[in-house]
This record gives sequence, structure tokens and C-alpha cells, in this order.
Amino acid sequence: MAAEEYDYDLFTIGAGSGGVRASRVAAAHGAKVAIAEEFRVGGTCVIRGCVPKKMLVYGAHFAEDLKDAQNFGWSTENATFDWIKLRDNVLKDVDRLEGAYTDTLENHDVIVFRERAEITGAHQVTLASGKTVTAKYILVATGARPQIPEVKGSEHAITSNEAFHLDKVPERIIIAGGGYIANEFAGIFNEFGSKVTIVNRGDQLLRSYDEALRDRLLQISLMKGIEFKFNTVFEYIEPTDDGRFKVKLSDCDEEIVDKVMFATGRMPNTEGLGLDNVGVEIGDKGQIVVDPYSKTNIDHIYAVGDVTDRVQLTPIAIREGQAFADAVFGGMEPVAVDHSCIPSAVFSHPPIAAVGMTEGEAKNKLGSVKVYQSDFRPMKNVLAGRNERSLFKMVCDGETGKIVGIHMIAPEAAEMMQAAAIAVKAGLTKEDFDATTAIHPTMAEELVLMR
Ligand code: NDP
Repeated sequence: MAAEEYDYDLFTIGAGSGGVRASRVAAAHGAKVAIAEEFRVGGTCVIRGCVPKKMLVYGAHFAEDLKDAQNFGWSTENATFDWIKLRDNVLKDVDRLEGAYTDTLENHDVIVFRERAEITGAHQVTLASGKTVTAKYILVATGARPQIPEVKGSEHAITSNEAFHLDKVPERIIIAGGGYIANEFAGIFNEFGSKVTIVNRGDQLLRSYDEALRDRLLQISLMKGIEFKFNTVFEYIEPTDDGRFKVKLSDCDEEIVDKVMFATGRMPNTEGLGLDNVGVEIGDKGQIVVDPYSKTNIDHIYAVGDVTDRVQLTPIAIREGQAFADAVFGGMEPVAVDHSCIPSAVFSHPPIAAVGMTEGEAKNKLGSVKVYQSDFRPMKNVLAGRNERSLFKMVCDGETGKIVGIHMIAPEAAEMMQAAAIAVKAGLTKEDFDATTAIHPTMAEELVLMR
């Protein structure tokens, strides 16, 4: 079939961060593009992930701000919290963003099919309505979904998907997992007044982060009243007559809770897409296997974002989508998205942010490392009477002095890290940081004052 015989130059399955970026950029390069989305335009990040989560983090943090405000002279004793108001305002903003994402596609003349799509032939896609279309290229950007371990009664548990729609804040919640979502939602629910327990199968939280920061988060979380059970698994979850749940954890007595939430990782959405119809290679975690340019083993089928299980972060999916569209439709030199030295953050209370290697990783990889540190109580916490210390760590190559990692746990750590990450990515040294004058008084000045 010649190119002009296809209905579209590109058919994208999945209108999340990666799929939307790829589609609109391909269209801007002159391609005729269609996209199918079975749920809502915007994908996990916009609809039930990063964006509404961050709004809840802001909402939750007022609990501390209101307490802290008192030492700054404010009276806040009668302050009350209305979950339904916050929930509905967040959901309203999600609707607004979904509209904005849809407008972006339509303004670029991308045809949006609001239904499920399946690959039914080499260049053919069949929509749930039965309509069949053809495309020169197919992009799979279907993301990932929560992975729930096999536990008796796990169907009674919620995941982060449902957490944004609750009718009330649970008085008692158990969260399974010790990663990003577990720690972020533990912080959120705890600030809203829930009694929260994190149940982790191992003995480590947030495995990919530097040990000193993980320890600090644990210590502060315990101080705030979050409970942790390590090396613990679920035996069963049973509903009770009054709409709650009886939970049995290993080595623990049965307990009645309002909600159980699983935050135990996410798995790629590859089932039922017809990938086997055309022989697309699937990896052992169910992910689509791609080359550095996001191409599958089939020349005209590409995949970007969480469905490829490379790095499950929105900005990476966006970069992969952009690189694909620029190379395939923009005539640009193909670019392999750089998956190294990616800054990241956990929006816990307080947040953690990091870029580059942890101290442990650097020691293993480089042998000789030099570590600088600043362990301080932010000025605002001092006056507020909040006994919470922040920690910054800088890990340098012992031979060259080049910074190979920066790690922070502090209020606004993610905001500071975005700027610091530029310096690390650019290969600057500790001396370069030392040569920069501090902005006083800030928390960020500790970046240039570490010893
Ligand atoms: P994570 O990978 O962060 O953490 C998963 C946790 O669940 C780990 O503690 C893991 O334990 C545990 N776990 C995994 N499998 C099982 C199992 N079968 N039984 C019991 N426990 C299990 O996943 P999340 O679900 O928190 O988040 C998914 C991804 O979404 C993240 O990896 C991240 O890429 C992204 N995300 C990013 C955010 C951000 O940028 N701020 C926020 C939220 C999500 P163990 O350590 O033993 O493997």
C-alpha cells in the first residue's frame, strides 16, 4: 500500500502525556493523525495521577501551615476542613485540563476517537464501534495501571485511581507498598486526620533514593503519626456488615479499617491491543520492547511512555513522544531520549527530591567518592516550633570533583532540585557551586554552602 492509500499517517492508541505530545507534534509536522482513547484525554498524569495528587498535597499541607501559623501570630483555632469541597474543586480542574488537552489535539486537526482501539492488521486498527481504519505508522501509548498482588479479598481495596473520588476521608487506612504512591498518599491522608499505616513487604521505603533521605523521611513520618509495618504481607481482607474491612496482616491481629489501598507498583497496559496479531515483542513484565528510538521489532509500530516500562515518569513519556514525532514526521535526526541523570521527586510530607547517583551507587560505580552534607532546621520550622530537620547531600566523584548526585529532603525540595539538576546534568563540580554566592536567607543557599 502506498502512503497516500492509508487513512492516516499516524494512528495513536492512548491519549496520555506521551500519546498527546506525539500526535500533536506529528500533526504540526504535516501528518494526518488520529488518536483513540477509551477513558479520558490526558491519561494517568492529568486524570488520576501527578496533577490531582499534587493538588491534594497542597490541600493537605494547609493542616501544617495552619498549625505553624500560630507562632507567627495568627489565630486559626476554628479552622475546619471540607474534603468534598477540595475533592470537587480538584475534579473540576481535572475536567478543565481534559478540555485543554482535547483542544490542543483538535486545534492541530488530530481526529479524536473516544473509544478503545485494537491493532487488527499490519497497518490496521479496529475501534470498539467496529470502524476499521488504516495508518502508515501506529504508536502505542497506553500507559500502565496499578498492579495488585494476589491477596484474598484484594478486590475490596482501592488504588490511587479511586483515592481521588472518596466520599469521605477514611478514619483508618492501611496502605500497601513503600514506594512513591504509598508515601505520598500516607502524607495526604495523615494531614487530613486519618490514622495511616504503611505496610511494606520488605524493610526499605523508596528503594531507589539515598539511604540517608529515606531514613529521614521515615523518622519524620513516624513523628507525624504515620505507622509503618515492614516485612509484612496481607493474609486477607474481608468486608464487614457496616461497610468497613477486616484486615489480617502477617504476624498481626485482625483489625477493622475504613479503607485498604494498594500502591504496589504499576504494570504496562498491553493486553487486548492486538499486539500479538502483528507480532510485537512483549517483555517479561508485559511491557512493549522498544529500541532507543521507541521503535518496536515491527518497523512501523512505535511505543512511548509507561507501556514500555523504561522510566515511568510523565516528562519522559513526553520526551519520547516528541522525539518519535520529530524523527518520523519532522525529518529530524532520530534522537534517543537520554534516560540517565533524571531528576525526580516524591511529594511526601516533607518532599524528597534527587538527581543522579545515591552515595551507595556512586561508591559501587566510582570507588572513590566525596560526600558533602547539610543537616539543618529550616528557619520557618524554627519559629513555628516544628522539630523537623532538612537534609541535603551532594555526592561527588572523588577523582574529578564532578557532582554525580544531589539529594534533598526539605520543604520545596522539588522546586530547588529542578535548578540544581541542570548543574549536575551539565557536569559541574563542587567548586562551581562554591563559587556561587548564596541567596540569604533561603533553604536553597545550603546547596552552595555544603561541607
Ligand atoms: P513504586 O515502584 O514506587 O513502589 C512499589 C512498592 O510496592 C515498593 O515498595 C515495592 O516493594 C512494593 N511492591 C511491589 N510489588 C509488590 C507485591 N507483589 N506485594 C507487595 N508489595 C509490592 O510504585 P508505586 O505504585 O508507588 O508508583 C508507580 C510508579 O509511578 C513509580 O515507580 C513512579 O515511576 C510513578 N510515580 C511517580 C511519582 C512522582 O514522580 N512523584 C508519583 C507516583 C508515581 P519493593 O521495594 O520490595 O519492590
